[in-house]
Amino acid sequence: MADVERRPLVVGNWKMNGLRKANSELLRITQDAVKLPRRIELVVCPPATLVANFAGLARGSRVRIGAQDCHPEPAGAYTGDIAAEMLADAGAIMVIIGHSERRSYHKETDAQVRVKTLAAWRAGMTAIVCIGETRAEREGRQTLDVVSRQLAASLPEGARGENLVIAYEPVWAIGTGLTPTAGDVAEVHHLIRNKLTERYSNAGASMRILYGGSVKPANAQELMKVESVDGALVGGASLKADEFLAIAAACA
Ligand code: PEP
Repeated sequence: MADVERRPLVVGNWKMNGLRKANSELLRITQDAVKLPRRIELVVCPPATLVANFAGLARGSRVRIGAQDCHPEPAGAYTGDIAAEMLADAGAIMVIIGHSERRSYHKETDAQVRVKTLAAWRAGMTAIVCIGETRAEREGRQTLDVVSRQLAASLPEGARGENLVIAYEPVWAIGTGLTPTAGDVAEVHHLIRNKLTERYSNAGASMRILYGGSVKPANAQELMKVESVDGALVGGASLKADEFLAIAAACA
C-alpha cells in the first residue's frame, strides 16, 4: 500500500453473473463489512439489471454500488446500451470502463474509453479505467510501453483523485489464477503513478491505482502490500461474500 494516507478501495466486478437471488450475497457483504477498518472502501459492480436493487439494499451500509460499462451519450437511439446518467440514476457511484473483456469482445478502443470516462464524469460518477498488457505483450517486454500508451490515450483532461481510479489488470492474469510477481506489479504501478503525476500534477498523486487479475484471499496480502497498490479490482472472488471480505481485510 502506498505510504501517502490512502483509502484503500476494493471493487467487486460481478461481470455477467447474478440473478435477484444474489441479494443474499450482497446483504452478507454489507453486514460483515462493518468489521473492516473504516478507511477501506467497498464497491460492488453487479450487472446493470441489479444496480438499482443493490443500491437500495446497500443504502446506509459501508458498501456502495457501481456499474461495469456505460455508453458515451446521455440518451438516444442506441438499442441495448445504457447511459452513464441511467446508471447514476439507478444508484451507481462508479463505473468500470475499458475492462479487457470489453476491449477484446467489443473491440473497445482507447478513444472510446476516453469518451466513456467523460460520460461517467458528466453523470457524476467516478470512472475506474482498466489498462493492462496481454500475455504476448508481456513476453515481448512491451508491458511498460503498452500501459503508457493506454494511459495517454484513454484518459481525458480534468482527472482528479475523486473522479478517476486506475485498475492495472494484466489481461493474462484475469480469471486464469496466474498473477505477476510483487516486483512486476510494483514496477507497473510506479510507472502509472509517474505518468499520472506528470500529467495531472498533485491530482495525479491522489488517484488510486488498483491491481486486478486473479486476486484471491490466498494472495491478497502479498499483492496489497506492494507499494503503490491502493486496492483491488476483484472478479471471480467477489461473487462470494467471504472471499471478497477477506480480500478487503488484506488491505488493512
Ligand atoms: C476482472 O475481471 O476484473 C478480474 C480481475 O477478474 P478475476 O479476479 O476473476 O481475475
